[in-house]
Amino acid sequence: MKCKICGRPAVIKLPAHNIALCEKCFEEFVLRRVKNAIKTYKMFTKDDKVAVAVSGGKDSLALWDILTRLGYETGGIHIHLGIGKYSDESLQKAENFAKKINSELTVIYVRDFFGTGIPEIAKITKRKTCSVCGTIKRYLMNRFAYEKGYTVLATGHNLDDEASTLLGNLLYWKDLYLARKGPVLPSTHPKLIRKVKPLVFLTEREIAAYTILRGIDYIYEECPHAAGATSIFHKHVLNEIENYSPGTKLHFLKGFYERKNIFARLYPEETKMQHECKECGYPSSGEICGFCKLRRRVKEKLENGRETTTA
Ligand code: SF4
Ligand code: ZN
Repeated sequence: MKCKICGRPAVIKLPAHNIALCEKCFEEFVLRRVKNAIKTYKMFTKDDKVAVAVSGGKDSLALWDILTRLGYETGGIHIHLGIGKYSDESLQKAENFAKKINSELTVIYVRDFFGTGIPEIAKITKRKTCSVCGTIKRYLMNRFAYEKGYTVLATGHNLDDEASTLLGNLLYWKDLYLARKGPVLPSTHPKLIRKVKPLVFLTEREIAAYTILRGIDYIYEECPHAAGATSIFHKHVLNEIENYSPGTKLHFLKGFYERKNIFARLYPEETKMQHECKECGYPSSGEICGFCKLRRRVKEKLENGRETTTA
């Protein structure tokens, strides 16, 4: 198998693009795909200061590596979720990588805000772990990106993540989610940072290959709460379709992005944050934001618990 571009021995076959590439041409292919997504969806320019949401996994570290190689001004933000060994190892990987590329990493601990980690917060509030985790991560990422002077927040969502969520939302006709979904989430308030997904044109397999070739050391273990998620099943279904008809995944997602306004028009007021939270001052749809409400509930519960044990 030879590289379609330079004729050297190929290291990877990309059926969706009908090519095989050598190491060097594959790395260039990856950089080009990301550059293309940034340009196509007008994500950011060289004047922006880009915060990369770094989990310590392969996608976010590959994203940080790629954006740095493309010459963007970047820094990482990592949220320590308080999920035992998984969180400690994730932080370690993020810190090692920041050192390697000589870039700034901001680390935020969930326990500094809640007095405990995500699993306990979910238990106290009787909410699903990933739902609580999502609310907290979104808030903290936005807040610290803003406070640190970044102008845009980039996340490592890849083609498989986006296509599988899209499939799930379509299967159950979740119009509201479809209205919000896209490669760019614009800022609708001065304290709400624009969010972008520069890896949407790359599959999980392509990103994994890139991290191996670049020697990027990431956390292999999945979060213990991720197992069994419906999105894993949807990814599997999409991979079956992709094997049968290469390129379908990309076509599916790009086609949606071209038509997404159909859904956005159904909820014209949805993205507007009209208030500022009375407690933290950050954008909110009500008087108190979801994050502060959550914090109150957890703190009350923890304090009551302490009183009962010391009484
Ligand atoms: Fe948070 Fe883990 Fe759920 Fe991801 S899988 S949202 S890290 S709890
Ligand atoms: Zn608040």
